[in-house]
Amino acid sequence: MPAYPDTWYARTLAETRDRPVLTGTVRGDCLVVGGGFAGLFAALGLARGGMRPVVIEAQAVGWGASGRNGGFVSAGFACGAAAIRARVGLVRAAELQALSAEGVGIMRATIRDLAIPGADPVPGILRMRRHEPGDDLRAEAEPGRRDYLDLAAIAAHLASDRYRHGLLDHDAFHIHPLNTLRGIAAEVERLGGQIFEGSPAQAIALDGPVKEVRTPHGRAEAGQIVLATGGYTGPLVPRLRRAMLPIATYVMLSEAAPELLATAIRTRAAVGDDRRAGDYYRLVAGGERLLWGGRITTRAADLPGITRQLRREMLTVYPQLAPLKTELAWSGLMAYARHLMPQIGALAPGAWHCTAFGGHGLNTTAIGGTVLAEAILGTSDRVEAFRPFGLDWAGGPAGLAAAQLTYWALQARDLWRERRG
Ligand SMILES: Cc1cc2nc3c(=O)[nH]c(=O)nc-3n(C[C@H](O)[C@H](O)[C@H](O)COP(=O)(O)OP(=O)(O)OC[C@H]3O[C@@H](n4cnc5c(N)ncnc54)[C@H](O)[C@@H]3O)c2cc1C
Repeated sequence: MPAYPDTWYARTLAETRDRPVLTGTVRGDCLVVGGGFAGLFAALGLARGGMRPVVIEAQAVGWGASGRNGGFVSAGFACGAAAIRARVGLVRAAELQALSAEGVGIMRATIRDLAIPGADPVPGILRMRRHEPGDDLRAEAEPGRRDYLDLAAIAAHLASDRYRHGLLDHDAFHIHPLNTLRGIAAEVERLGGQIFEGSPAQAIALDGPVKEVRTPHGRAEAGQIVLATGGYTGPLVPRLRRAMLPIATYVMLSEAAPELLATAIRTRAAVGDDRRAGDYYRLVAGGERLLWGGRITTRAADLPGITRQLRREMLTVYPQLAPLKTELAWSGLMAYARHLMPQIGALAPGAWHCTAFGGHGLNTTAIGGTVLAEAILGTSDRVEAFRPFGLDWAGGPAGLAAAQLTYWALQARDLWRERRG
């Protein structure tokens, strides 16, 4: 049984096969360090293109953010559309938006085509607004694809007086991320790739024609390497570590209480509010339990304290859920670049990085890993779309302090807007 932190996802694994530790010397066509969605989508693309990837994972596939997240799959990036336009202009921003939507399609098609057991995709994400105005949401609506919800329509989905406007995105969906990832890992192996678990990369050689990774019990070498270590990136490649901030975020899971939950949430669509520092939630386990996420901190926070904050937040939206018990809570680390966009590119010839997907990683790792595999295979140069978002220094401890201050400022702004109505 793989060693995962105690999450609802780890408690509901569709299969529990362990993978080997790297011993001796292994050779492949491309090494992939990190077995999250970024690493495994790259490995999948490479294996489908005829290469033999060797994935080296410190713990178990999906042990990081990829196996602990909210499971929301929707278009877009952690960075807002306006900031992307300001940085790269209208044409490139539109290309990036299209890639992000393609990432949603890749995740959907992967689950469908591989018939991944326990991935449990459920259509629909509701984006809710707690304050006025809602004209921009009305303008975004496209009947049948994105439905605008007024107060009456909201009431059909959610029994809360918190929300003023909503948009139901039918293209978006939600999944069991850990089962999904394990299904992708199995496909990589079926196509001839190798995956090693319990094998932290401790030393790495990126220069020269042969890339090498050393782990406690073995070494691996190949002509190419992809670094995909996300929010768990250590000091192995200082330039990569300096370019990201690890940000913690939190999820709690309720007891099974279908009747009580039905007094609040009447939809199987997932729900998120569009505050910058917002909450997101969805019914899981066939509607029996509520999975609720939110909050970010820049250093490991005390989990019981954060869970109390999440519960308080949940009760401001649904006071009727006061008797609902929380059964479990967990946290995970996301990697954020200063520009809030993924960092996908080359550190040296044949040495690639694919990281910093922030809190919007399920579609972006799918497209990021895919375009990186295309670059390595030489079949496209679509990875160039990410070139404007380089490995800028993220600011170290001062960057973390600034991130926390920004989050608090955004929370204060959200509260002020809500109070105004
Ligand atoms: C609580 C939470 C909720 C979220 N909710 C959502 C959501 O609903 N929708 C969404 O789109 N995004 C969400 N995200 C963000 C999303 O999960 C991430 O952006 C995405 O999973 C990042 O994938 P990754 O492969 O880059 O990193 P990870 O999944 O963190 O994978 C990195 C892997 O690298 C391994 N590793 C690190 N160092 C080494 C080493 N030296 N040697 C070998 N292996 C190493 C780690 O063990 C880890 O398994 C959420 C994140 C969190 C934490």
